[in-house]
Amino acid sequence: MLAPDWIAKVDSLKEQNLYRSCKTFIKDGAKLIDSATNKKLINFSSNDYLALADDPDLKKSYQAAIEKYGCSSSSSPLVCGNLTIHSELEELLCSWQGFERALFFNSGFSANQALLFSLLNKDDLVVQDKLNHASLQEAAHLLTAKSKRFAHNDCEHLNSILEKNTTARQRLVISEGVFSMDGDLAPIAEISKICSKHQALFMLDDAHGCGILGADGAGSCKLAKIKPDILLITFGKAWGLNGAAILCSNDCAEYLTQKARHFIYSTAMAPAHAAAVKCALGIIQTQNWRRERLAQLSSLLASELSLNVPMIKTATPIKPIIVGSAKKALEIADFLYNKNILLSAIRPPTVAVNTARLRLTLNVAHSDAQIKYLARCLNQAFLKHGNLNV
Ligand SMILES: *Cc1c(COP(=O)(O)O)cnc(C)c1O
Repeated sequence: MLAPDWIAKVDSLKEQNLYRSCKTFIKDGAKLIDSATNKKLINFSSNDYLALADDPDLKKSYQAAIEKYGCSSSSSPLVCGNLTIHSELEELLCSWQGFERALFFNSGFSANQALLFSLLNKDDLVVQDKLNHASLQEAAHLLTAKSKRFAHNDCEHLNSILEKNTTARQRLVISEGVFSMDGDLAPIAEISKICSKHQALFMLDDAHGCGILGADGAGSCKLAKIKPDILLITFGKAWGLNGAAILCSNDCAEYLTQKARHFIYSTAMAPAHAAAVKCALGIIQTQNWRRERLAQLSSLLASELSLNVPMIKTATPIKPIIVGSAKKALEIADFLYNKNILLSAIRPPTVAVNTARLRLTLNVAHSDAQIKYLARCLNQAFLKHGNLNV
């Protein structure tokens, strides 16, 4: 039975331009066809930055692994779901990133929740960037531990929170390497220093940095020459797959193996999937041309856009165009949709009120012509709607 206020709540979201729904698409090569309208769309919203999701070598390796391992791990990792392929992948990731152990999860969301729920209790303190991902914010909210947030990328604020909160048994600081909705980098060298000074643990969520930053794609840590205590990487973005790994010390992994409920009580990552992640790792480490191509596309786009388009320049394939109101963001997304461009409006509560945006993402599979076409359409949209960032 539907509780009477459910639909009222949905209606109220519609009135505020905050209603969400899932479109169904038909895949057509790199393009998507909206099954409701038959519109064929160039995708500027995906997180598949390196275009690995459709990479022929990755697909072949995945298929071969299914032949070898079957389709499922058939149990949780602690029962009989952990195969040699998982250990091989663990070793490769650990030596690449300089950690002792890695634990696999089926999603970054569950990995973040598992980690926070198992590491922190009521005597602890978690301090995180205000713009951290929903999985981290929500976990902190649900915890009995004390939870504080520092202003986005504001090291002084972080430092003052740690100075004022000294009684906790354990203090955990969390930042993203690359912020998912803004595409900017966190000052992690500085954060890492502050954490050492205060003897706080530092966890980095590098969901959007790993695969993208650094010559071998190792991500934010290698670029900043630091090592956090705990590193989360996810395979659903640049890796073209899905799933996640928590990299940490042997002691931490031992502890999580006893306590992390999303690890213990969930079917392990399928072995064929682990094999595909291993193949993606090889591609990420060796095919720097993909990152070079993204940089080329970035400069091409920037050079084609008129000054009316308030796109923020970033060092990553994530290029936010912040327009403010949810209504404007939807209007522009619709305008682009009618021009066969999929560029979704991102609205509160995913981003802060009055910072609704178009989250434009680049992909190695985009052609120069597509980028030029996108720029022409954006120029037109913002000519029509004025400079919406003021
Ligand atoms: C996407 C994302 C996650 C969640 O990862 P999934 O594997 O998609 O569940 C966690 N943290 C950040 C920063 C993300 O961008």
